[in-house]
Amino acid sequence: MALIVQKYGGTSVGDTERMKNVARRCLAAQKAGHDVVVVVSAMSGETNRLLKLVAQITDRPDEREQDVVVATGEQVSIGLVAMAIQAQGGKAVSFLGHQVRIVTDSTFSKARIKSIDAEPIRAALKQGKIVVVAGFQGVDETGSVTTLGRGGSDTTGVALAAALKADACEIYTDVDGVYTTDPNVCPAAKKLDRITYEEMLELASLGAKVLQIRSVEFAMKYKVPLWVKSSFTEDPGTLVCEEDASMEDVLVRGVAYDRNEAKITVVGVPDQPGMAAKLFGALDAKHIVVDLIVQNPSRDGRTDVTFTVAKSDFAKAHEVVKQAAQEVGATGIEVDDAIAKVSIVGVGMRNHSGVAAKMFQTLSQEGINIQLISTSEIKTSCVIHTKYTELAVRALHTAFGLDAPPAVTANPTVSEVDALKGQKA
Ligand code: ADP
Ligand code: ASP
Ligand code: MG
Repeated sequence: MALIVQKYGGTSVGDTERMKNVARRCLAAQKAGHDVVVVVSAMSGETNRLLKLVAQITDRPDEREQDVVVATGEQVSIGLVAMAIQAQGGKAVSFLGHQVRIVTDSTFSKARIKSIDAEPIRAALKQGKIVVVAGFQGVDETGSVTTLGRGGSDTTGVALAAALKADACEIYTDVDGVYTTDPNVCPAAKKLDRITYEEMLELASLGAKVLQIRSVEFAMKYKVPLWVKSSFTEDPGTLVCEEDASMEDVLVRGVAYDRNEAKITVVGVPDQPGMAAKLFGALDAKHIVVDLIVQNPSRDGRTDVTFTVAKSDFAKAHEVVKQAAQEVGATGIEVDDAIAKVSIVGVGMRNHSGVAAKMFQTLSQEGINIQLISTSEIKTSCVIHTKYTELAVRALHTAFGLDAPPAVTANPTVSEVDALKGQKA
């Protein structure tokens, strides 16, 4: 007998019929002899709807109050899923984040989990119940509701699996595993049987929203065997796991893109010690996470500093930087939110040269201008104009030999997802 944590995303609980399907799957796992903990997201589109309501009230929401609103989507889902299990003859109980003490820090809208009290869950499992936990939400030390960032139910699932020392964590979504790139953008994408934690971490942090980055960090740290599967098929899915020798044979495992960033350039920064510290210190003081940073060589004692931030932090970052740029005596600021970051990822890149050059050639052959470049041991990223995102992803996918043979691309889950696209969160 094993303890399994299953997480179902927004599309998987998108309507009551789908919730009944989730209930059937949970009961089947229990019938197979397992203890089952289920984490559910808000119904698809619900979190966006709640955020729109907030935006109708104010364009500068109080972050604590915004979390109070957006956390409600998951409350509806857990109650309905628990009742769907009961209606099929099973025993189930639902818990909100604070009821299982998912304690986080107080960084509203992107809080980090600090601890979980597994006892109420263990007690309910002992009584033969399926435990249904709200994803995405926690509670800080002062009792305020917090949320874990978009896609945060993945992290709830993996963190619970780690806290309960579960035998497996299964993330059920609307595609049947992790693909070489987003199958909804590139029809030739191939499903991977296995991917290393490290590669998945890079893909997630570079925009592959199939798993939230924090969930992969948790899985890697606590060695949680992590599966990504479809809630609509019986496909075994993809296992995210430790690297073994054979996995290094592949040069590029996948291609990711991210359209959720914006670019800010501080022009004419005096080329003196301490300037970058002042600019980025001001952003850090407001908890703004900076991604790529590029500083040009100085000319006439001045330099330009360009960096990217999440679009959700763009307005705040712009304001902070305006002030900081004045303080350091910079001559101006330029902003651009029509950008996308495309990236290639693979552990095999560690031991091979020429990968970045091939990426640049591929983009150049498509007439795509590269605005910024960033590399690390196992990835290369280029910032380009957002209008070229799909073209760049497909061209890179082909150039690095990732395209599936035509017969394999007929994927029922993907076409089902296409039909659902309008409903997605
Ligand atoms: P859920 O609501 O179940 O959490 P998400 O929409 O957050 O689902 O994540 C699943 C989506 O992730 C897929 O529909 C797909 O468009 C996208 N995606 C991006 N990159 C990948 C990838 N490499 N493999 C699989 N899916 C990906
Ligand atoms: N409902 C939240 C979101 O849409 C969390 C999640 O689905 O993982 O981002
Ligand atoms: Mg998700």
